[in-house]
Amino acid sequence: MLGSADEANPAMWKWLEAQYSLEALSSAWGAVVLGYAGFLVLERLVPAQRNPGVREFAADVRANLVYFLLNPVALFLGGWLSSPAARYLGGPQFRINLAAFGPGPVGGFLLAFVPIFVFDLFYYWFHRFQHEWPWLWEVHRLHHSEQVLNVTTNFRHHWLEEFFRAFFIVLPMNWLIRIGPASSAVAALLISQWSSFFHANIRVGLGPLTGLVTGPQYHRIHHSIESKHAGKNYAGFFPLWDWVFGTYWRPARGDWPETGLSDTNGIWGFREMVLSPFAGWWRTLRGASRLARTPRPKGTRAVVKQ
Ligand SMILES: [Zn+2]
Ligand SMILES: [Zn+2]
Repeated sequence: MLGSADEANPAMWKWLEAQYSLEALSSAWGAVVLGYAGFLVLERLVPAQRNPGVREFAADVRANLVYFLLNPVALFLGGWLSSPAARYLGGPQFRINLAAFGPGPVGGFLLAFVPIFVFDLFYYWFHRFQHEWPWLWEVHRLHHSEQVLNVTTNFRHHWLEEFFRAFFIVLPMNWLIRIGPASSAVAALLISQWSSFFHANIRVGLGPLTGLVTGPQYHRIHHSIESKHAGKNYAGFFPLWDWVFGTYWRPARGDWPETGLSDTNGIWGFREMVLSPFAGWWRTLRGASRLARTPRPKGTRAVVKQ
């Protein structure tokens, strides 16, 4: 009975109601529109590569729609399942009182910088695991299936990515440091807008800042179809993490490769966008069980191809 679930966990229903309120959804879309607007103009003025055609753009809008409708569910599930683990592990190990730095420009800089820097360390490893573990790749594949990188790609993430972020990023981050809600809000806004910027299809190089902060050219290398760029530039904001962990690729002047995956044109329907990881996992499981059932000639070993 619906009523009993409501009584059993009122906090959960209140939370979900808040996430799906007209106000919450319209502010999320408001942020998207604001983020899109300027970059959409720039993409027409100084495109790095060709811009998406009508069918490609429609697929992006579909992906964005799915993302914003299913995101609150993913966030809720992730938080609900990871909170007990966070409590069990204790923490935070460090409490960072950014207010102590004062309201001046230095304080303002640190206010935004520290949470994003720590976020990016955990994001780096989550992102790298998504490329190196076939099971997680099925979730990240939607993002890379985009054939022509553009500002909408920032919100072309499978909703399950948000779920896994709770374990790979939010949980360890909360274990390591404690940052006040105001700093977290500033950081979240900057992360979102900067991600729109570095996905945008604009030919804007960052010059001497290239190795210090990510930009459209740096992230384009990560989405590149060229094999020499595979497994490079995982960092979201600070190339330092790529440099430290050996995956740094400094884009050469004029290096604006084409992007996408060789096995898809990226024009996916609603069903594929919502269910693609589950279909991929099912294929893998079926393939493995078929392989296990196939009789092998004597003296040979089974090889599981990934
Ligand atoms: Zn990636
Ligand atoms: Zn990307």
